[in-house]
Amino acid sequence: MSNATDRLRIAVQKSGRLAEPSLALLRRAGLVFRSSRDHLFLYGENMPVDVLLVRDDDIPGLLVEGSCELGIVGRNVLTEQRLAAADSGGAAELLSLGFGGCRLAIAVPQGSAIGEPADLAGLRIATSYPALLADWLRENGVSADIVVLNGSVEIAPRLGKADAICDLVSTGATLAANRLRELVTVFESEAVLAAAPGILTPAKAALAGQLAARIAGALSGDGVRLLMLQAPRAMLPAIERMLPSRETPSVLSLDGRPDDVALQALCTVALDWQHLEALKRLGARGLMVLHVERMLA
Ligand code: ATP
Ligand code: MG
Repeated sequence: MSNATDRLRIAVQKSGRLAEPSLALLRRAGLVFRSSRDHLFLYGENMPVDVLLVRDDDIPGLLVEGSCELGIVGRNVLTEQRLAAADSGGAAELLSLGFGGCRLAIAVPQGSAIGEPADLAGLRIATSYPALLADWLRENGVSADIVVLNGSVEIAPRLGKADAICDLVSTGATLAANRLRELVTVFESEAVLAAAPGILTPAKAALAGQLAARIAGALSGDGVRLLMLQAPRAMLPAIERMLPSRETPSVLSLDGRPDDVALQALCTVALDWQHLEALKRLGARGLMVLHVERMLA
């Protein structure tokens, strides 16, 4: 099935950890949606972009077969399916999105004698990510048996089905609750914007590019603050040295006050009270730190 209309389709997880943050990001990129009656589809009201709500595992396949042009999915799912298909023409990763962070890690029962990856040789490891695990085992020269399970991987050791597991971890609370100890990280993941490998029509390619740029613009404001202040011109070099600044600040002259300047600088969130107090000691006045909503380079 290919998507023949001129509307762009973006696949997003229907419910689960990525569902809400994915839609929130699309809204921050300026999209306004109306929900369909079956709640499987969101119709874009202000741009020809629609959202398909699906299981996250289906997203790479929808991109490869051309049913959707873009998708928001964990890098773990995207890479697992690309490795499993063993072809280089899979969906491409366009942008890291800064949410859904987790790691695929091997864990062993707390009382186990396994102390390093080499100790896994000849043992059984349960996972829902056999291709990523096989890749890691091969690269690290460990020969172990992979037991594929599609859920409840963390109880496999207690059931006697495996000696270790390889599963997604964020805080580690689930591992602790199941009396498992993390041994080694196999793969680092977060949500990514992924694109169909096929050739898009020029109109769709332009739309996909515009949306990706808007998403990048919404993300680039994360962790960025705009600092505004006024200061004696003579103190400018000292003030500029103190800024956790991303680029050269803008310096403006003030009418009728030739010895003073106004300064605007994009800074990282590392700009804290200590910075402001130190700037004030250098003679800065009217200090203001503003949240940056979005940026377009
Ligand atoms: P679906 O019904 O869509 O298949 P799911 O159960 O496979 O849902 P979720 O548990 O919602 O998926 O996880 C979706 C993604 O969230 C994971 O693939 C991963 O990229 C990310 N993630 C972040 N933290 C964790 C975590 N602690 N455990 C599992 N996934 C996590
Ligand atoms: Mg899933």
